[in-house]
Amino acid sequence: MFKTEIPSYKLFINGEEMITQETTKVLNKYTQEAAAEIAVANKEHVDQAVASAKAALDVEFSSYERYEVLMKTADLLKQKRDMFAEALAKEVGKPLKESYGEVDRSVQTLLLSAEEAKRIHGEGVPVEAAPGSENRMAFTLKVPVGVIAAITPFNVPLNLVCHKVGPALAAGNSVVLKPAEQTSIVAILLTQLFREAGLPKGRLNLVTGSGRKIGDWLLENKDVNMFTFTGSQGVGEYIRSKAGLRKVALELGNNSATVIHHDADLELAASLVAARGFNNAGQVCISVQRVYVHKDIEEKFLALVKEKTEALQLGDPFDDNTDVGPMIHEKEAIRVEEWVKEAVEQGAELVTGGKREGALMEPTILNNVKPSMKVSCQEVFGPVISISSYNNIDEMIERVNDSNYGLQAGIFTNDLKLAMKAAKKIEVGGLIVNDTSAYRVDQMPYGGVKASGNGKEGPKYAVEEMTEERIIVLNL
Ligand code: NAD
Repeated sequence: MFKTEIPSYKLFINGEEMITQETTKVLNKYTQEAAAEIAVANKEHVDQAVASAKAALDVEFSSYERYEVLMKTADLLKQKRDMFAEALAKEVGKPLKESYGEVDRSVQTLLLSAEEAKRIHGEGVPVEAAPGSENRMAFTLKVPVGVIAAITPFNVPLNLVCHKVGPALAAGNSVVLKPAEQTSIVAILLTQLFREAGLPKGRLNLVTGSGRKIGDWLLENKDVNMFTFTGSQGVGEYIRSKAGLRKVALELGNNSATVIHHDADLELAASLVAARGFNNAGQVCISVQRVYVHKDIEEKFLALVKEKTEALQLGDPFDDNTDVGPMIHEKEAIRVEEWVKEAVEQGAELVTGGKREGALMEPTILNNVKPSMKVSCQEVFGPVISISSYNNIDEMIERVNDSNYGLQAGIFTNDLKLAMKAAKKIEVGGLIVNDTSAYRVDQMPYGGVKASGNGKEGPKYAVEEMTEERIIVLNL
């Protein structure tokens, strides 16, 4: 039998595709067969990409033109929904039904970015109120920061690219995009849509290949004005340490907490915890990881969440019945399996799951988890939920906050006073009441505190990060 040929993708620099001597393969994460061959950029390519991004800034690209290109790209993405969902299911291993969800959200992110392109404005500043400035007037302009290097992770490789490229272009910047090497296909396909939508050359450049090498070449290039990075804490800290005085926005990890108080709707809480804890095999930065359950309802909640978790199907992302697909790599699944075993050795109870086959890790629930266990104090980034019980509210808040991270948290309660106390006391970028930590829609301000990073995403908020405020004073 003949092997079907896999697509081969090039770099995209200054409006042109560019071949490279070196290439690498992106694998289908379920079959482990090659899904595509992609170009590997060298230093020269990266410097060319930055130079082209810089030169593009000198060519007029009005707010309305930016709006139109982003709208058109959103429309093209909608039309090619099937192609993108299938590419996601292949390269991430994300179940097809969830992959469609990511494509639909990406369309929203591009639409929101398009709308923002028409809303960027400064404000009047009453300098005339200062003694001696009676004859002056002032206002601010929001100007683009310039060339933005956008570096994105493997787990949400389409929507997180849209969250960087959409607002950056809306705000009048140029972009050099470096997607995750394991999941570059959808970013490449999206770049093609921007080109088809009429994006002026140089405004979006794509360099694929090694994160460490391309990262260093981008960091060494002083024509890059800003880094916007989503990924792991270690790489985020590295970028910050090398970026010098340039702007840096970091969207990093979390070991997200969700609280189930005794007055909660337990059916709702258990359904959402089981659904959101295992989305994308738990490889989501706000995935439900630490679950704190009030001791009075512990048994009932455990039974419900166990039943709902055991109903989830593990397997082939292309099977319509599959809820949980493979992890990104077998070595990651092995790591998660080891963390689960270690927690059990240290006294945690295995409620369900725990077994692994290749990169497929069963949806797993642990109970009686102690704060010192890796499944609690580190980011699992796999399909594991760690439950423990609490006696009173202050103890619960203290335990939720006992984390290096602070991206989002969830609390199920019908007690308004408790919800508002939690809103004030829990140290996170976002608190979700009567849903889990994992709730997100794309217009929200999204970004963490502590080791979860700094700077906000959500097109309106990202535009703020990606513009500078310049004051103009008139001496009349
Ligand atoms: P990662 O840090 O390994 O890689 C992210 C990106 O950085 C990739 O494109 C990679 O090639 C690149 N990279 C690697 N080394 C680099 C270097 N030295 N310099 C510059 N770039 C480099 O992360 P990952 O495994 O792809 O993603 C998982 C992590 O991302 C988790 O920690 C998760 O919580 C986090 N994440 C955060 C958010 C958020 O919005 N806060 C969203 C999704 C994922």
